[in-house]
Amino acid sequence: MKVYDHEDTIAAISTPAGEGGIGIIRISGPRSLSAALNLFKPKNIKSTYESHRLYLGELINPADKTVIDECLLTYMKSPNSFTKEDVVEIHCHGGTVVLQSVMEFLLRAGVRDASPGEFTKRAFLNGRIDLSQAEAVIDIIRAKTDRSLRVAQIQLKGGLKEALGTVRDHLVEALSLLEAYIDFPEEDIDPASFRSIDEAIEKALIIGNKLLITYEEGRIIREGIHVVIAGRPNVGKSSLLNTLLREKRAIVTSLPGTTRDIIEEVINIKGIPVNLIDTAGIRDTVDIIEEEGIRRTREKLEQADLVLYMVDEEGLHESDKDSLKVLKSDRKILVINKTDLLTSGEIDKIKTSTPGIISVSLSISNKEGIDTLKDVLYETLMHHSSDTSPDVIISRKRHKVALEEAEVFLQAARQGLVENSPYELISIDIKDALGKIGEVAGDTTPEHILNKIFSDFCIGK
Ligand code: GDP
Repeated sequence: MKVYDHEDTIAAISTPAGEGGIGIIRISGPRSLSAALNLFKPKNIKSTYESHRLYLGELINPADKTVIDECLLTYMKSPNSFTKEDVVEIHCHGGTVVLQSVMEFLLRAGVRDASPGEFTKRAFLNGRIDLSQAEAVIDIIRAKTDRSLRVAQIQLKGGLKEALGTVRDHLVEALSLLEAYIDFPEEDIDPASFRSIDEAIEKALIIGNKLLITYEEGRIIREGIHVVIAGRPNVGKSSLLNTLLREKRAIVTSLPGTTRDIIEEVINIKGIPVNLIDTAGIRDTVDIIEEEGIRRTREKLEQADLVLYMVDEEGLHESDKDSLKVLKSDRKILVINKTDLLTSGEIDKIKTSTPGIISVSLSISNKEGIDTLKDVLYETLMHHSSDTSPDVIISRKRHKVALEEAEVFLQAARQGLVENSPYELISIDIKDALGKIGEVAGDTTPEHILNKIFSDFCIGK
């Protein structure tokens, strides 16, 4: 376990900047209570403060004894706090001047400013949570949909930690069986032990694989995806965006080329945060503003996870065919809009002119096809139609890479067993795999990676 200065006491404003009904200052470390009591005057005189109780009082400027604010103070005695250290929270009115004055007096009382994520980092360093749980804290704060929140909650409760613990148990079992033979290199592993070692490694691999296949879905649920609505001017892109947003935001007119700018909004489709981007029409033009719009459109198309390529009752122009050609097949949906102006035969004709491309028919005017479009969008991204996911899923590249590396070591260990490699070498592979699992949990994560993870947090968390 990494060490830090346990004498150090940190403080930060934990509520967002700006005006608010209340503002909270959090303090953690051995001097939390004494520093807070330097300013806090309880309504009823107290000689001792019990843990986990709220005390009403006033914050007093220690220099001139003037009242800064009325507040509530709570003390959470070590180890029963978020950081496992002594923690004090001061709840005052959420004005910038109040909060900053309190911070200033605390700093004078020997407390220092907390760096981003330092409270969570202490919770991790003091063994209250593992690294996957620490990461879940930030995921909860940043969750964009109910489903992103659910995934993060499961991780905070220790879902991933538990799964990794089971992997570790299997590998430790394999190692201990193998260790018995290391001192006797000329002795063959008896068939029963061989099977047990191989099975233990296989069990670890199965769990690892189950986690790995959840990554793409996990990443989408956590980070969201970029969906671009593209197509010629006037096909109905802004109307679609408006319908999906359920409010009139983008300007809708019947003049071609009026949506010059790129409009971005995040919507929730079956729990996936979808960053929806409406683009200016793609067409050749001499208009400078439009040219800029078209350049930015191309840029957005390249970054998109999925493109909703829209045509109207006119079907596909040559320019549409060219645009569709450059988009990857699993990254595009052809949206045929204004079907209220078409017969079903005409719709089919448009569809058959674009074989191999998933298409959805729509009439925004008649409010038809929107739900189908959402379903198709979801299925294209998530590769299955259900909106339930396994309980424990991984959503960070860091986890994916470590699990993949562990898998390589474990495959090598199994291969080594079959090929009768020296037992030490097999054991090194298993230990290396354990090291990779430890990186996800945080036990073997290099210091610079830890610092990077926590620096991504907000101050006060
Ligand atoms: P954009 O230039 O692609 O963003 O197209 P707009 O959303 O501005 O729509 C252009 C015109 O098409 C507007 O007059 C819309 O009212 C009209 N429009 C959009 N959807 C439909 C539809 O489903 N049916 C019909 N008939 N007209 C539509």
